[in-house]
Amino acid sequence: MSIEFHSTSDKWVKCLSGTGTIRAVAVNAAEISNRLADRHELTPSGRKALAEAIIAGLILSSYCKTGEKVNLNIQSSGWSNQTIIDANATGEVRGYVLERAPGDIQLARNVGPWGIGLLSVLRTKHDEAQPYIGTVPLLTGHLAKDLTFYWLQSEQVNSAVGIEVFMENDRITLAEGFLIQAMPGATDADIGLIEEHLKKLHHFDSSSDIRSTPTLLLSYLLENQSFQLLEEQPLTLKCNCSLDRVKRSLTLIGADELRSMLAEKKDFEIDCDFCSETYVFTPAMLDELLRDMS
Ligand SMILES: [Zn+2]
Repeated sequence: MSIEFHSTSDKWVKCLSGTGTIRAVAVNAAEISNRLADRHELTPSGRKALAEAIIAGLILSSYCKTGEKVNLNIQSSGWSNQTIIDANATGEVRGYVLERAPGDIQLARNVGPWGIGLLSVLRTKHDEAQPYIGTVPLLTGHLAKDLTFYWLQSEQVNSAVGIEVFMENDRITLAEGFLIQAMPGATDADIGLIEEHLKKLHHFDSSSDIRSTPTLLLSYLLENQSFQLLEEQPLTLKCNCSLDRVKRSLTLIGADELRSMLAEKKDFEIDCDFCSETYVFTPAMLDELLRDMS
């Protein structure tokens, strides 16, 4: 059975300034991050990496149109070898972190926990064959900073991105992120006000009121500006894997490989990368698959 968990607390909130020149989204995703990290049995640092990537994927997908989805792919030298997040315009998300062994992590001086590498964003529509792909180098090792560069590079929009994950006793207590974008026509005064608030954000710890909901965070960041809330989207941890899909992928490895699996006369367990659901294939099922293929 694939997973579908509707969070009661996690959501994204989008808003637009009264002048229409500043748009922003804020996300909370601690519950979903903890739940998925539990399924993947991640270490504390893997848990933190997953939460950061989930926030990044959701910020990206929050600006998708209906029916679009985003695939965020981070290949890096730091705490994760590869991280993949799938997210869509209705707030559904899934993903995984391939953790690097501690001895294998290589971080240059002044580089954040992600290390260096590549960050790719693949945006697809259901009805469009040609996906859009944007790739930027991971330079700072801090996901929020490298995403800021992504927006400038791939979409030519000046942005401020923040991602913060707080943990206590190896559990995520707060996973929060935001994206603020200055659209054409934004004045220096508008941007200056926001920059002032961004500078002071670190004064507020994870128990602070302004961090308790995406709306309150936006209210703080856009304080002294009029803005309207555009959307409040509850988030869902959802993977669309199924026994049928795994069967189809098994047939792709070829009849010879399936025959040698069958010859071992034992059950095979196949885990979904995205949600860690285990699918068991008995020799009888393998036999049936082979007969279907011929
Ligand atoms: Zn799955």
